[in-house]
Amino acid sequence: MRFSSGFVLENRDVSRETYFWWKMSIISRYDVIVIGGGHAGCEAAAASARIGASTALITHKLATIGVMSCNPAIGGIGKGHLVREIDALDGLMGRIADKSGIQFRVLNRSKGPAVHGPRAQIDRNIYKKHMFDIISATPNLDLVEGEVCGLTWQAGILSGLVLQNGRTFTCHSAVITTGTFLRGIMHVGDKRQPGGRVGDLQSKALSLSLEQLEFQLGRLKTGTPARLDSRTIDWSKLIAQDGDDVPEPFSTLTRSIDLPQLPCHIGWTNSRTHDIIRENLHASPVYSGSITGRGPRYCPSIEDKIRRFADRDRHQIFFEPEGLNDISIYPNGISTSLPASVQERFLRTIDGLSNVSVLRPGYAIEYDYVDPRELWPTLETKKLKGLYFAGQINGTTGYEEAAAQGILAGINAALGAGNAERIILPRSSSYIGVMIDDLVTKGVTEPYRMFTSRAEYRLTLRADNADLRLTDIGIQIGCVGVERAAQHTRLKRDLFDAETTLKTTYVTPTEALKAGVNINKDGKPRSLYNLLSRSELSFRRLSIAFEQLKNIPVQVWDRLENDAKYAVYVDRQKAEILSQKSQEDMLIPETIDFTTIPGLSNEVRSRLLVVQPVSVGQASRIEGITPSSIAILTAFIRKENAPWCLGRIEGP
Ligand code: FAD
Repeated sequence: MRFSSGFVLENRDVSRETYFWWKMSIISRYDVIVIGGGHAGCEAAAASARIGASTALITHKLATIGVMSCNPAIGGIGKGHLVREIDALDGLMGRIADKSGIQFRVLNRSKGPAVHGPRAQIDRNIYKKHMFDIISATPNLDLVEGEVCGLTWQAGILSGLVLQNGRTFTCHSAVITTGTFLRGIMHVGDKRQPGGRVGDLQSKALSLSLEQLEFQLGRLKTGTPARLDSRTIDWSKLIAQDGDDVPEPFSTLTRSIDLPQLPCHIGWTNSRTHDIIRENLHASPVYSGSITGRGPRYCPSIEDKIRRFADRDRHQIFFEPEGLNDISIYPNGISTSLPASVQERFLRTIDGLSNVSVLRPGYAIEYDYVDPRELWPTLETKKLKGLYFAGQINGTTGYEEAAAQGILAGINAALGAGNAERIILPRSSSYIGVMIDDLVTKGVTEPYRMFTSRAEYRLTLRADNADLRLTDIGIQIGCVGVERAAQHTRLKRDLFDAETTLKTTYVTPTEALKAGVNINKDGKPRSLYNLLSRSELSFRRLSIAFEQLKNIPVQVWDRLENDAKYAVYVDRQKAEILSQKSQEDMLIPETIDFTTIPGLSNEVRSRLLVVQPVSVGQASRIEGITPSSIAILTAFIRKENAPWCLGRIEGP
């Protein structure tokens, strides 16, 4: 029998809506439930489903899955590394950014490859559409619309959750990724309105539920600038900035960048702008005292900039398009929560904006976050087994930081649900590892943002080698699909072959000169790898000169060149990583009672108790923990010789 709608219930042809309502009402048990459809939530849900766990993503509105709450851009310095690492684990952000990018630039290109920051301007509507399409078509993943208002648990183990409409779910693990929504309050001047971001409700009941569980909540804030009507800007007064001639995609799966590319524009504030802001500081909720949460120091509002850098007579603004067919412009660098009328006045003092029309005023948002020292490095909470947090709820800021935590939390929630070993990424493997270690060890006092300077092993953690650092781990735990796995195998083979050719092909200075390459005339033969390590010789140049390199695929040129040029430093860093490894590998037994370790001061004991480090390496990074207390701790663990209960698969 043929059914017209294709959706069948008890032999009856039913509408798509009835079918899904029925399916939703009977299937209320999942391995993993992800709460929130933002950047952390999407990566967490997709990763969990890729591993094979039955997964549900529950979010306020399905229509807001993948919304970019603030700037229309992905990547940047440090953040671009995170996107590449997410991609290496077969995550979504890089692939979708490539499909929605309208300007690609590698920041810091003039500096060494370790600090190159791939970044793309994004069409936010196209990004959201692709995210929804991928998420809704992911096998093992159901989407549910609703507000989660409470958790259920038994004997310290999560058992499920409850929606505001009374519907209950049971699950093995849940990942909370509620972003800026927990008791979110939006501020414009003296106007305060509850909400998770403009157009969305706040999430209050879930905050109360976390408080009931005695999680340590705090308040943080962030802000966004006004959105401007592009038709009312005099573009001739601003300086156009194009992207790179050849756009560099985030994802190794992307073959081409297909959307048309747009320029951004640069402008500046001036002394008149600053005067208006200074005169109205009292009306800013941050200075009037109605916002108490700390904001991101590295992404200050224009009010903060005027106060903190009083001697500066101008501040740069990047005018960023929000989409290909979008009149909205995001003026990056002037986030504000001044009253709307003041915003309009100061904006009109800026060259090019004398007639500007404001589509939406800027605003600040204050929200609850949970002290990330409540988490194990797996992102599971210490208080409730099976419960994970990821994203802005952990005190971070930014889409990339959120997505990177999301993918790890989703992986671990799924592995935990299947009673498999969970993963902890060490600092030496990835920026994801650096960020999570920073969060769970040091906590936050302001929104945490990724920078390359946070990583001590920068030369080994380059954006161009994220896949070599992480994809094998992803394959091992089952979160990498067949397409990427096959591509990764090919890549490793190509790299191996190319490196072998470079290291085993020797040329004398005379042979090199014949090929057009001038090196020391000392008669000594040198490998092509040695030539590539010289700053003045690029792979392109060598490939033209030496026939043996003709067949090496262009995709591996940059990687080989970076490896060769930095080989000495990379080897030194690898040796350093190895020497630290013994501390990182020495795991602290879960049953340890820090208060009974003889010889430790009360101060050290209490610091260890707050963080509950999982390894001696982590303990050594806690503020105030001295080398002598580490020696005492190490001796104690050796004597106890107890196993740590968290499973752990490490990176290279
Ligand atoms: P979000 O993207 O906020 O997603 C949270 C999701 O959880 C939403 O889908 C929401 O509907 C859902 N949700 C919440 N509670 C519940 C519940 N109880 N039940 C079901 N679903 C729920 N980042 C920067 O890097 N720089 C900036 O300058 C910056 N400024 C910002 C300014 C503003 C005003 C805002 C709102 C955000 C700003 N951000 C900025 C932050 C950026 O938007 C976040 O870092 C990023 O979106 C966090 O991702 P997330 O996945 O943690 O949460």
